[in-house]
Amino acid sequence: MVDLRAQYEKIGPEIDNAIKSVLVSTSFIKGPDVKLFEQELQEYMGIKHVVSCANGTDALHLAMMVLGLVPGDEVITTDFTFIATVEAVALLGLKPVIVEPESGSFNISVEAIQKAITPKTKAIVPVHLFGQCADMESIMELAKKHNLFVIEDAAQATGADYIFKNGATKKAGTIGHIGTTSFFPSKNLGCYGDGGALYTNDESFANKLRSIANHGMKVRYHYDDIGINSRLDTIQAAILRVKLKHLSKFNEARKAVADHYDEALARCSSISIPERVKYSTHIFHQYTIKVKNGQRDELKKFLETKNIPSMVYYPGPLHLQKAYGYLGYKADDFPVTNGLCKEVLSLPMHPDMDRDQVDYITLNVLEFFNT
Ligand SMILES: *Cc1c(COP(=O)(O)O)cnc(C)c1O
Repeated sequence: MVDLRAQYEKIGPEIDNAIKSVLVSTSFIKGPDVKLFEQELQEYMGIKHVVSCANGTDALHLAMMVLGLVPGDEVITTDFTFIATVEAVALLGLKPVIVEPESGSFNISVEAIQKAITPKTKAIVPVHLFGQCADMESIMELAKKHNLFVIEDAAQATGADYIFKNGATKKAGTIGHIGTTSFFPSKNLGCYGDGGALYTNDESFANKLRSIANHGMKVRYHYDDIGINSRLDTIQAAILRVKLKHLSKFNEARKAVADHYDEALARCSSISIPERVKYSTHIFHQYTIKVKNGQRDELKKFLETKNIPSMVYYPGPLHLQKAYGYLGYKADDFPVTNGLCKEVLSLPMHPDMDRDQVDYITLNVLEFFNT
């Protein structure tokens, strides 16, 4: 699905030097590369503050912690996402309110958010799924009207641009009150272990996030907040500094692969190629097709026989996970997600795929459908 080895081979010497310099310096925690990476990412994202942390799940957890919410407050998020999004909400005793995505863009439906707002709603967590932004302008309008916080889960969209109606653009994750991301190895900007970060333009949020990600400590051994231990290792920061320099190029390469997939697959009436919305660029964290007529699993098996990996993101909707049974949702509350979970199939996608590889995959997909 991804070829991290090919990527390493391209930038290997740069990475090796970066790691080596941390080994020699021995500042493994909070070394200079951490601050430098945060500054470089701030610049790339066009945001005032980047606060690094240990992983994307912690980033969501930390974001929820600084909002000053109390148990029972409601947080609206999408049914079609990675579990971390809802986990952070539930762990703090807040009430996850799960709503449907749009079946075309896979992203949270603004209409569904609107219907789910109650006097207890305090925040909305849109997820920019598979590399394309949710409809942020509408979400921000709704949030303003109801006085809600917006936390963007941008783990899959590092580098995507949101395009406002007036033509202005902002990076995914920098539009809401706080944005979160993950540097899990397979993400578009991935490190060689776990890592994560938060984005905000609000200085008081930034200061508090910095503090609680480091035991609530502002001055050494003085604790102003109840915090956690969630820091980005210096080695990972050093690796990310190298990879950030290549991110735009890598995202462009993914888009070229996606264009090539689209071109070959558009004429196949048994599948739909990924919808591209007009308010966002797409950085193709995943290239996800929808397979009609209940043939998804058969296609997946057929591709396996041709040595082509494919993955189902996500096979089961959040509302049906055992751990979240206490929320009391029923299967038929979510027809859109139920449908998506049966139809989606993500094809191999990474910046180092060449045209022959894409051709081999698309020819086999078309062969399966006899087109
Ligand atoms: C990867 C991911 C996360 C979690 O990131 P980790 O670094 O693995 O904790 C959260 N949300 C989404 C949408 C993700 O894709």
